[in-house]
Amino acid sequence: MSENTMPNNNENAPVDFIRAIVNEDIRSGKYKPEEIRTRFPPEPNGYLHIGHAKAICIDFGIAAEYGGKCYLRMDDTNPGKEDIEYVQAIEEDVRWLGFTWDGPTRYASDYFQQMYDYAVDMIKLGLAYVDEQSAEEIRQSRGSLTEPGQPSPWRDRSIEESLDLFERMRQGEFPNGSKVLRAKIDMNSPNVHMRDPVMYRILHMEHHRTGDQWCVYPMYDWAHGLEDSIEGITHSFCTLEFEIHRPLYEWFLEPLPVHKPRQIEFSRLNLTYTVMSKRKLLRLVEEGKVNGWDDPRMPTLCGLRRRGYTPESIRDFVQRLGITKFTGITEVEMLENCLREDLNINADRYMAVLDPLKVTITNYPERQVEWLEALNNPEKPELGSRKIPFSREIYIDRDDFREVPPRKYHRLSPGAEVRLRWAYFLTCHDVKHDEQGNVCELLCTYDPETRGGAAPDGRRVKGTIHWVEAGHAVSAEVRLYDRLFVCENPDDCEEGLDYMSNLNPDSLTLLKDCKLEPALLELPPESRVQFERVGYFCSDRHDHIPDKKAVYNRTVALRDSWAKIEKKHN
Ligand code: ATP
Ligand code: MG
Repeated sequence: MSENTMPNNNENAPVDFIRAIVNEDIRSGKYKPEEIRTRFPPEPNGYLHIGHAKAICIDFGIAAEYGGKCYLRMDDTNPGKEDIEYVQAIEEDVRWLGFTWDGPTRYASDYFQQMYDYAVDMIKLGLAYVDEQSAEEIRQSRGSLTEPGQPSPWRDRSIEESLDLFERMRQGEFPNGSKVLRAKIDMNSPNVHMRDPVMYRILHMEHHRTGDQWCVYPMYDWAHGLEDSIEGITHSFCTLEFEIHRPLYEWFLEPLPVHKPRQIEFSRLNLTYTVMSKRKLLRLVEEGKVNGWDDPRMPTLCGLRRRGYTPESIRDFVQRLGITKFTGITEVEMLENCLREDLNINADRYMAVLDPLKVTITNYPERQVEWLEALNNPEKPELGSRKIPFSREIYIDRDDFREVPPRKYHRLSPGAEVRLRWAYFLTCHDVKHDEQGNVCELLCTYDPETRGGAAPDGRRVKGTIHWVEAGHAVSAEVRLYDRLFVCENPDDCEEGLDYMSNLNPDSLTLLKDCKLEPALLELPPESRVQFERVGYFCSDRHDHIPDKKAVYNRTVALRDSWAKIEKKHN
């Protein structure tokens, strides 16, 4: 991993409990730092989301800090839901986030034969048996938290018989659901996951990588620990819901002559106004509630990317979250704030008028155009400046004019003087209305002495507004995005309804005829900019075509609602 893609770790931050465990394993001599092996193991059944970003930063970040290795492994043991499209998207998203995995992408399916062989060993050890009960019978006989389970009538069949049946399951002799391989553990265990869990099921189904080679597929608990073990993973990080599976993870590996990784659980990321499960996100896509997995309203990494999020801001966000075992909900404003902090420094500023109102400057010479100097980023003057055209006709935002100004309105109104950003002072003299009585044009004068925005007589104006010169203006489509859900917890809804009922009907506003300064047409797709006084925007990854068609997505508004929340909490 190169320097500039390293997560920005704060060296003074207290060590979290995971790093403390790894440190101890190094101190005790269990591993050398460079032997640390982690993995990020997504199931390729959907696109990665911001929750995965937390896991990715932990898995890759920790390995990198110790000089160890992190693998990317597709946990592709469920042929029905998985697809090569997802594999490619996952690879792209991990790279985009700034991480490089060691070696090729790995696949759980590459270990199917080894897993099968180990399962045979488990049968030989008397630790697994072929059960002929139906899925329903197995479920019923599992008992509950308060009641012990009932042993299967096939539990004590001979090792030879199980070996024979398991082999024939693999050969495809039996239909789906007719038999399973189960671990022989303890039907009375207080942990229901230890009550003879299923290790293999019969599934006559093509796998996206192994084709029709297999018709028995391993279950998660059996497969995952072996995947970790086969790859020599030292520390296997996962989210808290797997804590209760850990005894099983260890039970499976214990009798086998294999490397024993350590599973460590941390709390998953939850965000307000956001659903995070791939299954729920898939439904939004399938039912057309959003325009695909990378719709800028989606919490997927490709959606955030298309929205204009930077990988740096997401890594910074995860870093600030820290790693704990407490389950909580993080305010989405915290994520937005990390983004704003990044863009404030790193996004160049341009002028764009989203709701144009024409202004004619009556004392400006007709057919004259002059080119004024504008700083690209006042936070970083070293980034230089550009030239912007100015003439007799310009556009301003409709919202920057009031015929009858409210108190403390420092923008344009009849008789009032404002500063045009990077240009001149401007005074409004006359207002034109259309047949419906709406304001359709302003007639103004400028003060030629105020070029660059200061008056030689020292006279001051309170307001500065943005504008775009009409003759050179680029017409653009601008998409304003709002939260996808109307409430903090989208799953909190009335009886009989689900999260779909909490979708925000106004999460997308399409503006078709915005006016941009010409430079914005030339920028490549995925350029992140600030429209001065309006917000942060990003040229659309797919629809923006330089020199042809300008399409910008609103990434986040300038208004810092996070600061308000922070104030409230303090
Ligand atoms: P989902 O519930 O969204 O389908 P998953 O846990 O099934 O997610 P996997 O592809 O199995 O998704 O996840 C890969 C890794 O990402 C796992 O180690 C998982 O624990 C982690 N992960 C998934 N969601 C989150 C989250 N919200 N916060 C932190 N880590 C997560
Ligand atoms: Mg899952």
